[in-house]
Amino acid sequence: MKKKVTKIGVLCSGGDSPGMNACIRAVVRTGIYYGLDVYKIMRGYTGMIEDDIQQMESRSVANIIQRGGTILKTARSKEFYEYEGRKKAYENLKKHGIDGLVVLGGDGSFRGAQTFSNEFDIPCIGLPGTIDKDIAGTDFTIGFDTAVNTAVDAIDKIRDTADAHDRLFIIEVMGRDAGYIALHSGIATGAENILIPEKKTDYDDLIESLTEKERRKKLVNLIVVAEGEQTGGVQLANLIKEKLPLMETRVCILGHIQRGGTPTCFDRVIASRMGYAAVECLIEGRHNVFVGIVNNKMNYTPLNEAVKKKQRISEEWMKIVKILAT
Ligand code: ADP
Repeated sequence: MKKKVTKIGVLCSGGDSPGMNACIRAVVRTGIYYGLDVYKIMRGYTGMIEDDIQQMESRSVANIIQRGGTILKTARSKEFYEYEGRKKAYENLKKHGIDGLVVLGGDGSFRGAQTFSNEFDIPCIGLPGTIDKDIAGTDFTIGFDTAVNTAVDAIDKIRDTADAHDRLFIIEVMGRDAGYIALHSGIATGAENILIPEKKTDYDDLIESLTEKERRKKLVNLIVVAEGEQTGGVQLANLIKEKLPLMETRVCILGHIQRGGTPTCFDRVIASRMGYAAVECLIEGRHNVFVGIVNNKMNYTPLNEAVKKKQRISEEWMKIVKILAT
């Protein structure tokens, strides 16, 4: 029989994402509701190794549900890749009597949690906190909705100025390996072209379509490109300037504004549901899984199966973009 969990720790690891605070709040309050002691571990696995750990109360998470970033701070830890680092982390957890862990992060953080749990007797639950939405086993990740809405808001503003000047704007959005932010924000803003890492861009075709639009005097064009696409924004602009020197072209890299800011209602709600479910998992003995939501139901995937989800590009989506942007 699995040992009953009595004291749990919660940490954020890897990149931050809006909604993490709502999730921390849910973990703390659900834990306390079920009679557990809940500890915050600062700066991810770094804080675990350096013993930056304190007990939390229900009030410690008051007034944070609407705040972006994370009150626990987040970090990447080189030391945690090594056994010695993980051993130090374990000894610190033991010192506090912590016997269960909730890790908010991406697939890398989940792999770290699985390795740790295999070596030491601490069950871990993962919660997908990433704006990229690129983890298999969940339809949504905490932060994606906010990030994509921030991108939409910015692109709408850029369209106003593009329209005033008859310009071509190239907008680079986040997504090193995944094109979800580009695809969703591009469709929602009526972008003429969307370029993503998962689909090889045919640049000749792109130039041809821009030339054709120039002929038709369609001078306002928005191209949304994911940062991980073959060229990215700046190189793409250079390529277009070279081929179409008369076209007024501007580049805007949205960058880190997509990570911060007030989480949307949607992100707050999924973060709250997932945080609650993580504590239930620890209590019920469903260990070493990460919590996702699939078809609006909680879904549990073993941590060691956490992998980056490669976007299966729906050709239909690309067709919609093409038809609607004519
Ligand atoms: P993300 O969780 O956003 O994918 P990373 O891949 O950078 O981000 O992982 C975050 C942290 O998780 C790393 O800095 C490291 O401390 C830990 N980690 C990741 N992979 C492993 C692993 N295979 N073994 C041990 N720790 C790991």
